[in-house]
Amino acid sequence: MKVLVANLGSTSFKYRLFDMANERVLARGGVERIGSAESRCFVETLGQRHEATLPAKDHAVAVRLCLEQLAEHGCLASPDELSAIGFKAVHARGTTGVQRVDERVLSAMEAYADVAPAHNPPYIAAMRLLAKQLPHIPLVAAFETGFHQTIAPAQRLYAVPLEWAERYGIQRWGFHGASHAYIAQRTAELLKSPRARIISCHLGGSSSLCAIRDGQSQANSLGMSPQSGLPHNNRVGDFDPFALPVLLRETGKSLEQVLDDLAERSGLLGLSGAGNDLRDIESAAARGDARAQLAMDVFTAGVRHYLGAYLVLLGGADAVVFTGGIGENSVAMREAICANLETFGIVLDPQANRTARGEARIDAASSRVQLWIMPTNEELIVARHVVASCQLAD
Ligand code: ADP
Repeated sequence: MKVLVANLGSTSFKYRLFDMANERVLARGGVERIGSAESRCFVETLGQRHEATLPAKDHAVAVRLCLEQLAEHGCLASPDELSAIGFKAVHARGTTGVQRVDERVLSAMEAYADVAPAHNPPYIAAMRLLAKQLPHIPLVAAFETGFHQTIAPAQRLYAVPLEWAERYGIQRWGFHGASHAYIAQRTAELLKSPRARIISCHLGGSSSLCAIRDGQSQANSLGMSPQSGLPHNNRVGDFDPFALPVLLRETGKSLEQVLDDLAERSGLLGLSGAGNDLRDIESAAARGDARAQLAMDVFTAGVRHYLGAYLVLLGGADAVVFTGGIGENSVAMREAICANLETFGIVLDPQANRTARGEARIDAASSRVQLWIMPTNEELIVARHVVASCQLAD
């Protein structure tokens, strides 16, 4: 069974093609600058990269071009050989888990377009188009909230009138489910312990910590929306709603404008003024930029806040795992997060932390908690969900 896992942007489509007989990636590729007369369509297979410049007026044309390119390079016998397309979908009202994309699911995603403004609108637009123009290919959405359905009410509920949760779904849903699920499975495998207590730190363009026991999510730092929890590259993180009336009054902006500031111009970007990429912020801090250093300190404090909370929740940890662009690559951030945690059994090996490449253990001999860097594999988790859902449908 060959499954394509799609990653959509408003003008881009990227994918990995899996052969699920052996869970191997046969190819990765995509189309950039969708909508332009000169879209760039590329595929990488068997270590070789092929590129073409072709017009892709929309996402359906982009997918069709990719399928043709895959057939041309021998990854598919024909475009019809594809069994399904899977999506790492973010949020929908009243539904989660793994769903065949249909009008009900699309409407549920639409209902939360303003809760996940960076994610839902491009996914909805592309899914609608694909469902219409490529009706023979099943589309499957694996929602990021799905892994967090095991979170208990004590961790899940906000202290608001209970009927808000019951009627309107106002609660901590949690996100980054595919990534945390991968980390849960792979870490349990490495520790040879399916019951392991794991704190998964997905630190990237958006960031969250997840407390995991028995392979199940016990808590996630993301709440009702992907703007919550830790500071993100340009999204706010946890924020007191009673600051909103002050901001509306003082700035003269509308609620939509302020929400846009919180979703687009906050986080590391808003604090540092040095861009939204931690690499630029780290360089600015190294040159003595105090605001850049402050942004890094706020981010570190946020991660340590949830790390402490989850150590208490789990009664200690067997492993703390770093993943995502920041978690895998920032030596300084991992060092700052793990500083002075000996009392909690967390001791980083500075040398291993500096030299680690790929999946690697970075704790010192004296550490009771194993510390790992682990590249995540969200696409594999989505592909497995697609296979399971297609088998159920058969
Ligand atoms: P996304 O969350 O969008 O999938 P990633 O997990 O790939 O993104 O994380 C991207 C972010 O990781 C970048 O914006 C940057 O902040 C950070 N990053 C990537 N490489 C490095 C690095 N070498 N050092 C520090 N930060 C890095």
